[in-house]
Amino acid sequence: MTSPSQASLDWIARLVGFDTTSRLSNLNLIDDIAAYLAQHGVASEKIFDATGKKANLYATIGPKDVGGIVLSGHTDVVPVDGQPWTSDPFKVIQRGERLFGRGTSDMKSFIALCLALLPEMLEKPLSVPLHFAFSYDEEVGCIGVHGIIEFINRGGPMPKLAIIGEPTDMQVVNAHKSVCACNTTVRGFEAHSSATHQGVNAIQMAAELIAEMNRIQVEYQKPEHRDARFEPPYTTITVGEIHGGTARNILARECRLAWDIRSVKPEHDTVILDAVKRYAAETLEPRMKKIRPETGIDTEMVAFAPALLPAERNPAETLALKLAGQNQTHAVSYGTEAGIFQIGGVPAVVCGPGNIREAHKPDEYIEISQVAEGEAFLRRLIAFCREPGSRSFLEQAA
Ligand SMILES: [Zn+2]
Repeated sequence: MTSPSQASLDWIARLVGFDTTSRLSNLNLIDDIAAYLAQHGVASEKIFDATGKKANLYATIGPKDVGGIVLSGHTDVVPVDGQPWTSDPFKVIQRGERLFGRGTSDMKSFIALCLALLPEMLEKPLSVPLHFAFSYDEEVGCIGVHGIIEFINRGGPMPKLAIIGEPTDMQVVNAHKSVCACNTTVRGFEAHSSATHQGVNAIQMAAELIAEMNRIQVEYQKPEHRDARFEPPYTTITVGEIHGGTARNILARECRLAWDIRSVKPEHDTVILDAVKRYAAETLEPRMKKIRPETGIDTEMVAFAPALLPAERNPAETLALKLAGQNQTHAVSYGTEAGIFQIGGVPAVVCGPGNIREAHKPDEYIEISQVAEGEAFLRRLIAFCREPGSRSFLEQAA
């Protein structure tokens, strides 16, 4: 096995060292990257969110007169709260052939490789450019990347394709599920817990709604709704958070759910969301309002990440397969920014180091062999971008 360069390992440690949990600002990390790019004479653009506390970073390496290849990664990570880590999640440590730390797999290692290879990208002229697109708030619903799509649509040549470096074990992924993220608030009415006829227990109403979601989920496991490319091969409904109540002997006034639908077919999202809302409105609310009219259930979609849909002609797929030396594409169940690039007019594929199995968990790690493989892939990409024929490859593919 070839080892990754020290620069790649250093950059992984450097990026993991910034706690960029989605609820926090990512500006320290973005500023660090921008300063490094500036040292190498590469200008970058910060695309801020409405609060000014988070930003995407976009930079072009190589010619500015032609659309190139986007290397896309998100800078935020999921929380470590309550997870039994055996070491500091924001300090990379090596055990055996693995690097441990939050974001090692998902997905700071990919960004680290892009940065570590910057000097090699600059060594000799590229005939097609590489674009770094590093986003915020991917983990809370692919929010930041929309600013990047707007930015590239505002001016300059449109990129020809995008490689999203989410962890796929360096396999080429041309399809993923959509993610429809929803919040539900159940408004009950407080009463003494012995007087169930005088109040509405928001927790127990929420439980009935969850039971209905479970029932719908079983329905969607039937063969006619499946897509065998995915694992699991059906649409899922998951409640990830539930908050409600104040004491054992009080009927809960409020209960909030954070949940999502991950669909194997684009139409499932709306059909399921409508079914959940209808059950709340037609079955639960009448019972609640009979006791107290001010009670009710509100559900809203807070974020939507469209699916990456396999396309007949996808230059991103063609190029990634060529660079990876593979001839087979894969489908994954997690959402990524690829679907948003695709809808935004940039053909996309997902291919990056690490494995999604390790993501979002305590003691997240990446195999060092994956870092080396990712590095080799990017080196082949740089070589491709130098080939005189790369421009016409992208022109023909587009
Ligand atoms: Zn990710």
